[in-house]
Amino acid sequence: MLENLTGRLQGVIKNLRGQARLTEENIADAMREVRMALLEADVALPVVKDFIAAVKARAQGKDVLQSLTPGQAVIEVVNDELIALMGKANEGLNLAAVPPAIILMAGLQGSGKTTTSAKLAKLLKEQKKKVLLASADVYRPAAIEQLKTLAQQLEIECFDSNASQAPLDIATATLDYAKRGYYDVVIFDTAGRLGIDEAMMAEIKALHAYLNPIETLFVVDAMQGQDAINTAKAFGDTLPLTGVILTKLDGDSRGGAALSVRHVTGKPIKYIGVSEKVDGLEPFYPDRMASRILGMGDVLGLIEQAHKNVDMAEAQKLADKVKSGKNFDLDDFKAQMSQMRKMGGMGALMDKMPSQLAGMAAKVNPEDADKSIRRIEGIINSMTPLERRKPELIKATRKKRIADGSGVQVQEVNRLLKQFEETQKMMKMFSKGGMAKMMRSMGG
Ligand code: GDP
Repeated sequence: MLENLTGRLQGVIKNLRGQARLTEENIADAMREVRMALLEADVALPVVKDFIAAVKARAQGKDVLQSLTPGQAVIEVVNDELIALMGKANEGLNLAAVPPAIILMAGLQGSGKTTTSAKLAKLLKEQKKKVLLASADVYRPAAIEQLKTLAQQLEIECFDSNASQAPLDIATATLDYAKRGYYDVVIFDTAGRLGIDEAMMAEIKALHAYLNPIETLFVVDAMQGQDAINTAKAFGDTLPLTGVILTKLDGDSRGGAALSVRHVTGKPIKYIGVSEKVDGLEPFYPDRMASRILGMGDVLGLIEQAHKNVDMAEAQKLADKVKSGKNFDLDDFKAQMSQMRKMGGMGALMDKMPSQLAGMAAKVNPEDADKSIRRIEGIINSMTPLERRKPELIKATRKKRIADGSGVQVQEVNRLLKQFEETQKMMKMFSKGGMAKMMRSMGG
């Protein structure tokens, strides 16, 4: 997702970079481009207007105009404002209620409510909460069964409701059951409709009044584009929402929903759905999303993912190395590559990578990516420990030996070394000055 938006914004960045001095005029040009990029990405018009106004006001400020590297300064402003637009920082769930804490799930049919309910239950179970799932989705055929099946798979209890019951009766029975069973949290899934519908709104309002949930989460499909915004508005007007979950961000959404939904509802995006699997739910970090949008990649997200799925010790070592700014060598590069392989393939990762890297990865057919990572590992395996620590030693003769040893052409060794250099550069920047520094290097 987001590729187009990222591409367009990078065009703006490139242009600004070429300017020795910023004037009101070239800022206005750049802002026109940014505006187009956002509209094309399906960001809602009022959001675009406010965003551009905020960036313009700051970009024309003295600090930016007098900065030695004005192009970079503007990009920093854009980044800051993107973060602000999406809510500044991650906001987690509030479960500080007399148990059971109730989470009410609201949203249209097909938005991902049922799947997300199960994903959320899984996260909470991992936090040692006693969780009860329940569904009052008596409209969508087999919705209740779907939740029961997911619950079973996750070894989480699901209240035994059925489609012949009235939603309020299900709510009453669920609450009673949860209290008697000393559950910490109840995740209550509700019925959606294909579009905004009065009966649906009346029903969920009644459920809300009865259950008095501490969290009322609006689940919305990021691929819906502008429609997502209208739906968000309608639900926000009906229910006192406490947060939003944006699903299907792994799809080919143009990203507009992520950028508009906070502004339109005034409610934080608490989680994002990134796959249809039960572990595809992640906390939403506005700063990380902003760097993805600007094409700088979610390096922190990658490291976090590594912590979660991969050999913890290895991932920790890599993260520490990045943080401490120690030399990132070919052994680390190889460790990183094999972690990528373990982390569910290139497709899942490409989205999170800085665009330069993703660009390189994109040249590889994703299906062949696994093979290509193995080749990289093979080439590095043919190097001596000294060469891995000091890749600058690898000149023509060594290259030939390494290529022969791993059964590849010398060009492939060259390509790998180039790729390694790029990554190393990024790691260095990341460890020295974080995102700001990385951005500056891109800006000029
Ligand atoms: P509901 O009608 O709102 O309960 O929607 P479901 O939970 O049944 O989800 C509708 C479809 O979207 C299902 O096929 C899900 O597997 C899929 N889905 C839900 N969340 C995600 C997500 O984050 N990514 C992807 N790729 N698919 C998702």
